[in-house]
Amino acid sequence: MQTTAAVLHSPDEQLSLETVSLDDPRNDEIVVRIEACGICQLDIEARKMLPTPSVLGHEGTGIVEQVGADVKDLVPGQRVIISYAWCGHCPRCRENKPYICDESWLINFSGTRPDGSTTMFLNDKPLSAAFFQQSSFAQHVITSERNAIAVDGDDLPPGLLAALPCGVLTGAGTVVNTLNIRSGKSLIVFGAGTVGLSAVMAGQIAGANPIIAVDIHENRLKLAESLGATHSLNARNTDIAKKVKKMFPTGVHYAIESSAQASSFNTAIECIENGGQIAITALPHPMENFAFKPFAFFTKAASIHAVSVGSAVASDFIPQMLRWHRDGRFPFDRLVTTYPFEDINRACADIISGKTIKAVLTM
Ligand SMILES: [Zn+2]
Ligand SMILES: [Zn+2]
Repeated sequence: MQTTAAVLHSPDEQLSLETVSLDDPRNDEIVVRIEACGICQLDIEARKMLPTPSVLGHEGTGIVEQVGADVKDLVPGQRVIISYAWCGHCPRCRENKPYICDESWLINFSGTRPDGSTTMFLNDKPLSAAFFQQSSFAQHVITSERNAIAVDGDDLPPGLLAALPCGVLTGAGTVVNTLNIRSGKSLIVFGAGTVGLSAVMAGQIAGANPIIAVDIHENRLKLAESLGATHSLNARNTDIAKKVKKMFPTGVHYAIESSAQASSFNTAIECIENGGQIAITALPHPMENFAFKPFAFFTKAASIHAVSVGSAVASDFIPQMLRWHRDGRFPFDRLVTTYPFEDINRACADIISGKTIKAVLTM
């Protein structure tokens, strides 16, 4: 079938909406008519990671249109959220830890199906698609049944549902699954973007106190306060480590680093108390050196967690976040700005400039 996708012809060019052809679904795959797709920082960085021409997008939400012969649980007409891909058969997947699937890199970032075949073609030539086994900057996609989570979220529009499956999942999942934060424990969050603000909201649900948000944008810090942060600090004009030590002399127990800045990671080490834990949520560039001060880290007997998608089993955790939202405890909708599909380049620019926190395209 033919559909429209946002094609990237070279990493520095704008995306262009073009007619592409979709392969036929395999027996374990489905075709989804995409209604909305979130844009994540990773979609910006992945422009340089996949061979071009490529189609990115890894937070699709839409309606199942076609199912392969072996698909068991989904039927045409069902609304689904498409999250990260996992193989289903490696030791990690069998332990119900698909977020650290042994084939994760290949299956999410190679731009093909696991067998090397392609899901989209431009003028009969293969496209690097199948990004996260979806490439949802498109009106129709092929995905595996495994990645698609059925939602009854009739009370929420697709433009909000598509905000959930990556950054929001990562921030909230880090609090609940990776760190398992308990009531009354202190938390500092570096970076008040999608991941950091979702961590603040989940921290409040977990009962963390105090919750300190750190960013360089006043408007984001104000938002963090309205979402549950008890304190906010602007790193542009504050020595964060000094200030935190003054406010909490023995230190903070948990730190979540979502700003992807090595300096914030080092500040996190200075801020945590003995036995404290640091979670790093941002994927570093493959060649990046992340320098840190091991002395303070050792003397504090601190732990560090590299977090993959919030250590979350998406099929359990996305419905959990929707229940929190229905109960009024997880207002993630306040992070979201929607854009029509044809404004995808403006949406990407607004993410890069920091104007928008969570952009979602509506198809
Ligand atoms: Zn696996
Ligand atoms: Zn993402």
